[in-house]
Amino acid sequence: MPRPIRPRNTIRIGPVQVATYYDGHGREKHTAVCTAPRCGFSADYDSRAAAEIAARTHRCTVR
Ligand SMILES: [Zn+2]
Repeated sequence: MPRPIRPRNTIRIGPVQVATYYDGHGREKHTAVCTAPRCGFSADYDSRAAAEIAARTHRCTVR
């Protein structure tokens, strides 16, 4: 991480972690990150619901 962030409400849906944090401009960001090795899925969303839906519907290309 280039700078410290303060993730909160971190949950896990399958292999995907969803976290809410504030970016450098004090705005809420919602990110979904797959923790599976070599998957590399990671995306930011404007809303928590969108991030959680993305986590639920994510399908790893790696088995
Ligand atoms: Zn994945």
